[in-house]
Amino acid sequence: MGIIRPLDDHLANQIAAGEVVERPASVLKELIENAVDAGASRIDVAAEEGGLQLLRVADNGSGIQSDDVLLAFQRHATSKISTDKDLFQIATLGFRGEALPSIAAVSKVRCVSATDDTGLGRVVEIEGGAIVANRETNAPKGTEMVVRDIFYNTPARLKYMKTIQTELGHLSDIVYRQALARPDIAFTFTHNGNTLLRTPGNGELRQVVAAIYGTSSAKAMIEVRDDNLDYAITGLTAMPTETRANRNALTVLVNGRYVRSQAIIQPFLQAYHTLLPLHRYPLAVLNLSMHPSLVDVNVHPAKLEVRFSKENELRAFVESAIKKTLSAQAYIPSGAAPR
Ligand code: ADP
Ligand code: MG
Repeated sequence: MGIIRPLDDHLANQIAAGEVVERPASVLKELIENAVDAGASRIDVAAEEGGLQLLRVADNGSGIQSDDVLLAFQRHATSKISTDKDLFQIATLGFRGEALPSIAAVSKVRCVSATDDTGLGRVVEIEGGAIVANRETNAPKGTEMVVRDIFYNTPARLKYMKTIQTELGHLSDIVYRQALARPDIAFTFTHNGNTLLRTPGNGELRQVVAAIYGTSSAKAMIEVRDDNLDYAITGLTAMPTETRANRNALTVLVNGRYVRSQAIIQPFLQAYHTLLPLHRYPLAVLNLSMHPSLVDVNVHPAKLEVRFSKENELRAFVESAIKKTLSAQAYIPSGAAPR
């Protein structure tokens, strides 16, 4: 008899959780991504004590069918991809089918979901991977996920959590990026009952920027818009005189996904070149879109890193688009619509 055996599901989920769930903000990211993928036009986010005590994400999206709610918490169960061809052209934010089982393995989760307006839905509760409730309930169309006591059963991980304020900073960062990525979705974000963000959901990026960074910064930004055969870029970027000390003021979105990509940040900064004071960064929101086959998002469990198949071309495109934007500003008379 050999000594090798497959891990049981619970153990496998706990191991995956180690990669997917680093802190409350990683849970929040997955829950918001699911709400976005469900086609929600409203996403309400609430957190208590930096998310360590409670995270709640409620959406008005498609909902989960009654028979599917438990399945959604199973490992590698997803409605988003089904063939390997799909994997090479991912159009949704999620695709790994790992988030919910991982989250449920290290916290206490309640999911209430309904797929229509009949008022009938299902509630499932899972604690540390064990199902503790599964029944019909009254629910509006959409999904509400409540995650309590993250890492209550993994004390070593819990010990590494920073202060409430630090965790809240990470949570805000996630909500802000997602709100910037989707001006067409109305977001609210409250922490310990205080409203920290409310976006109108009317599709106006500048209004989302105003809600996050302030009206005067938003007003001073200039529009970016360019495309070629492979790539398109839209967004808002700051005049070289309106800079911040923090690189975080730059939000890069690739096909609607917030990513950290030097392949975009470097040429973006390069375009400003000597216009930027040392260690100052422009406030910017850049939306890159391209055929999904030109970008590989299956690089890292948190899906923050991506690889581009034609990286050099992409770099050249970004630099040229931003240079054009900035030089148009210098030469056109003030008051004319920036292009
Ligand atoms: P993935 O997003 O990679 O598919 P998840 O574990 O995050 O994996 O979610 C599993 C499945 O549960 C999703 O594929 C989706 O069908 C369903 N689901 C999760 N959250 C929601 C939601 N807010 N609204 C609708 N369906 C959801
Ligand atoms: Mg997901």
